[in-house]
Amino acid sequence: MAQLEIKNLSFVYSAKTAQKKIAVDNLSLSIEKGSFVGIIGHTGSGKSTLAQLLNGLLKPSSGEVILEGKNIWSEPKKIRDVRFKVGLVFQYPEYQLFEETVEKDIGFGPRNMGLSETKIQERVENAANFVGLKSELLKKSPFELSGGEKRRAAIAGVIAMNPEILILDEPSAGLDPMGRDELLEQIRNYHRQEGNTVLLVSHSMEDVAKFAEKVLVMSNGKMAFFDETKKIFSYADELENLGLRIPQITKIMRLLDAAGIPVDKSALTVESGADSIEKLLRKIG
Ligand code: ADP
Repeated sequence: MAQLEIKNLSFVYSAKTAQKKIAVDNLSLSIEKGSFVGIIGHTGSGKSTLAQLLNGLLKPSSGEVILEGKNIWSEPKKIRDVRFKVGLVFQYPEYQLFEETVEKDIGFGPRNMGLSETKIQERVENAANFVGLKSELLKKSPFELSGGEKRRAAIAGVIAMNPEILILDEPSAGLDPMGRDELLEQIRNYHRQEGNTVLLVSHSMEDVAKFAEKVLVMSNGKMAFFDETKKIFSYADELENLGLRIPQITKIMRLLDAAGIPVDKSALTVESGADSIEKLLRKIG
């Protein structure tokens, strides 16, 4: 049984008005436990709406979200429990901060889950440590933090619930490249150590290529492709038609291959591309 199953899922904004917009359109797919899935697509293709449908923040206009075999809306009163299991980090998570101290903010989820104060403290410390937030910041007001620190605090708040499925909607927008890499590495560690499922919505093809095992490509609220990452980025022309690109390194490797230079044209990261070129040079040198 898949951990998360989406069946004929649709979501319409402003349904009864002239501005009616079908944001998610009859989508069906399943996600296995422990997978790391990248979600890409042009702006407006329905990625954020899908993320909010998956954790029960939005209710489907039609169709189902099935978590561990159960429709998440079968008992609407229990939808809060779904939000503990499927943690969502918003595009601008800093707006999720509202408590007096960073510590209380990170502890908000675990407290709502009914954990003991000792357990909450433990979760807060681990989560802060995980996102690289210094412990002296915990007693401060979230409003005293820098932009990057606020983002880390908000992500820690979701991690502290130890969700079985972690959805990140453009988590690294606005972070400097160093902070961004560190954060994504940490999320990969979380995925590997805890075996939790991660869904990463991202504009960065480089990030998706580096971290995701499978990629869902959205277009106009529909699924354009859903496949292994390597496969997805071999569809360069199809992605371009959807206004998307492939990682720069993959593009260069494909161009080299097309020019008759036998390199690995499916390389997805700079490291693997460099590796393949080095091997070739050694062979001819
Ligand atoms: P993405 O995350 O891929 O950019 P969204 O899920 O945000 O896509 O948006 C999908 C579609 O729904 C877009 O056409 C967008 O304009 C529309 N939409 C998103 N949020 C709202 C809203 N709150 N009210 C009306 N339309 C919306």
